[in-house]
Amino acid sequence: MYTAIGYAAQSATAPLAPMTFQRRSPRADDVAIEILYCGVCHSDIHQARNEWGIAVYPLMPGHEIVGKVTAVGANVSRYQVGDLVGVGCMVDSCRHCEACQADLEQYCLEGPTMTYATPDRVDGSNTMGGYSSSIVVSEHFVVRIPQGLDLPSAAPILCAGITTYSPLKHYGVKAGDRVGILGMGGLGHMGIKFAKAMGAEVTLFTRSPGKAEEARRQGADHVIVSTDAAQMQAAAGCFDFLLDTIPVQHDLNPYLETLTFDGVHILVGLIEPVDPALHAANLVMKRRVLAGSLIGGIAETQEVLEFCAEHGISCDIEMLDIGNINEAFSRMIAGDVKYRFVIDMATLKA
Ligand code: NDP
Ligand code: ZN
Repeated sequence: MYTAIGYAAQSATAPLAPMTFQRRSPRADDVAIEILYCGVCHSDIHQARNEWGIAVYPLMPGHEIVGKVTAVGANVSRYQVGDLVGVGCMVDSCRHCEACQADLEQYCLEGPTMTYATPDRVDGSNTMGGYSSSIVVSEHFVVRIPQGLDLPSAAPILCAGITTYSPLKHYGVKAGDRVGILGMGGLGHMGIKFAKAMGAEVTLFTRSPGKAEEARRQGADHVIVSTDAAQMQAAAGCFDFLLDTIPVQHDLNPYLETLTFDGVHILVGLIEPVDPALHAANLVMKRRVLAGSLIGGIAETQEVLEFCAEHGISCDIEMLDIGNINEAFSRMIAGDVKYRFVIDMATLKA
């Protein structure tokens, strides 16, 4: 064990504050990582404030981690001291169930061990995330940062990137498909870039008319202001896929009506009951599909990093001093960030 430092919430109503804690020494298959950068995901806010009802305190968020390997366990074969690596939303899973065998660790039948606020499978301790100086993770859950990617702007690929890439790929989005991205925050702006790179005609649905020009700069071909009923009605039957990153309850019905027959509405932002209720006719009458998707497996996370390097895709970021993390949470809720905060972990030592 060794002493690490990070920012954690002590309760659902407490702001994040510095905390020292114990990290384990690397086990045989572990990689120890000095964290250089960590993205700030809206999930970090949901969890710190216990909005999903599953938080465990102290809660140290952070699952968009980029850093440098500082030590490896005796059985580690893929990484060496000095390698630039990433860690996303998971740090372990059962590794033998059907999902794990299919490289879909996020759907592990026994439940994956998340990067924070989950009991470690070996010692039962509460996992602590990337708002910290270092982390120790089994090499299976570590990915390599490809050459050519800027390190800070690569960090959000570990969650915002894989979460949007994985469903677009799973549903086979291809050239000519009409894809709508709902909400342009951290996930949404990556969704626009990926859908565009896959050849789709991309539309941003936003509640913020002021984002229209920015969305076009990100690659969107069209923008629909979702609060304008006339614009929503004019889009009836126009879309093959919707990727919904909105982080709060919202009416799905007007969006479903913009899908063509067989169209697919993929939820990634919402893990609460759908409210207001879904009108089943919006699915039944057009054989439409309402789907969900959770991050992506480790192999696919490596794949999306390579995809970004190959296609010159990176996340638009604003660098953050960790001392300003609580203000950053407030700004994210207000939609005031283009489009991801990334903590410069050097500011933690300061
Ligand atoms: P951000 O806060 O960066 O962006 C969310 C965007 O949604 C906003 O920019 C805004 O876009 C829109 N939005 C925000 N509030 C509202 C509202 N009240 N009504 C309508 N639209 C709103 O969040 P992230 O991109 O980091 O995360 C999005 C969601 O995805 C979160 O709930 C997060 O927990 C979840 N998530 C899910 C994952 C998964 O595996 N399924 C993985 C990672 C995150 P605009 O102004 O353009 O409308
Ligand atoms: Zn996330």
